[in-house]
Amino acid sequence: MSVRVRIAPSPTGMAHIGTARTFLFNWLFARQRGGAFVIRIEDTDRERLVPGAVESLIDAIGWLGLDWDEGPEVGGPYGPYVQSERLALYHTHVDQLVQDGNAYRCYCSSERLDQLRKDQQARGEPPGYDRRCRNLSDRERAEFESSGTGSVIRFAVPSEGSTTFDDVIHGSITWENARLDDFVILKSDGYPTYHLAHLVDDHLMEISHVLRGDEWISSTPRHVLLYEALGWEPPAFAHLPAILGSDGKKLSKRHGPTGIAAFQEGGYLPEAMVNYLALCGWSPGTDEEVFSLPELVRRFALERVSKSGAIFDHDKLEWFNGLHIRAQSPAGLAERMRPFLPGKNRDIAAERLEPIARLLQDRLKTLAEVPELTDFFFQDPLDYDLALLVRPGMDNQATARALAAAANLARQVSPFVHEALEAGYRELCLELGLKTTQLFMAVRVAVTGKTATPPLFETMTVLGRDVVISRLEAAAAKLAPN
Ligand code: GLU
Repeated sequence: MSVRVRIAPSPTGMAHIGTARTFLFNWLFARQRGGAFVIRIEDTDRERLVPGAVESLIDAIGWLGLDWDEGPEVGGPYGPYVQSERLALYHTHVDQLVQDGNAYRCYCSSERLDQLRKDQQARGEPPGYDRRCRNLSDRERAEFESSGTGSVIRFAVPSEGSTTFDDVIHGSITWENARLDDFVILKSDGYPTYHLAHLVDDHLMEISHVLRGDEWISSTPRHVLLYEALGWEPPAFAHLPAILGSDGKKLSKRHGPTGIAAFQEGGYLPEAMVNYLALCGWSPGTDEEVFSLPELVRRFALERVSKSGAIFDHDKLEWFNGLHIRAQSPAGLAERMRPFLPGKNRDIAAERLEPIARLLQDRLKTLAEVPELTDFFFQDPLDYDLALLVRPGMDNQATARALAAAANLARQVSPFVHEALEAGYRELCLELGLKTTQLFMAVRVAVTGKTATPPLFETMTVLGRDVVISRLEAAAAKLAPN
């Protein structure tokens, strides 16, 4: 059987961790099996549509380095791929269900349904439609119709027996039909509900496997009954574990950002995101953790997706991000850093940015730290508090003398590389009778304007001899103007 999978997002919000994880698992499965991956937009809940939601998904997919074979932008043989453009198809199947006695028109008002729910609650019963309209006589129906009462169409769930389906991850699942109520399949606005629409589409689009979040497990028995009523074979189901925060509760904004755009802006590499998302529910069965996308395509197995909730831990993601930052080539990292540089700093030549990237590579956790860690490469003159130059046990005069000597040394050191600089400055400490912490910190502040930077002598090498000399001289002059 050829594999066809889909992700069926409702455009009711911006792309988030859950969507991206479900997308990734479907994508990995499709690519591994040489199958097709479909995106279908489920926009039948007209009141909850959020402008920009589809674009946000498409941006997120592009950023993660993933793609799709059929759907928005690319089209395909099973289109349209947007449910609001497929209404006639749903109506045909709803009509068939009604004709076959598997669905019926319900005229109950929302006030009646509210009251019903309240009464059920008061009696401690589970909520559910009481099937009042299931057995209306032809005359009663005709009366409702002629009075123009609004209506919906409900599926007539068998009141007895049970429904079983196999789930690739959870095994066999059985539900008593008595636990299911006659759910709505066509709303009063003429739009189908999710239950009907997604199923008609999955069938017509020849979807072979439905990989979706496990919040849909309890709906699947209804879907299986609908498949039976329509005389169709259901696809294989694989319900993916919910994503939880580090405290084991359902992942939410309380745990930190959940929108994919926030991670992109927050300086995470898509490689790290994909790597970590893959481990949100799947495990390779070994203690390996670092995977590239092609490795994931080879290794991913639906059978190794866990049943229980998957933890998404922001700190762990940051750790993965560090790993993937270190795995970049310096030239590659430089280009990843560039969009994070402010304003015209972004125009810096690649051969100047690459040494900066190399300098930061070992200590960068996210690219969002780049502006703060690199600003002194771009400022001229530096702006800092002069008091930072003067270390304990030194005064302005002594510091100015030390910085002038440091500038002299910078002029002479050859080659201008960190090993030679370090040896030279250590010797200078001995000559001037200063502790290394005194001289090195004064030099650090003079050349970077900061007390915490990447390793000093490597930083000086990247700044270059001329900049170092002029910054040391400027600092000395400010402390001891003559
Ligand atoms: N539109 C549904 C959602 O956004 C799709 C669920 C499914 O994959 O069947 O969750």
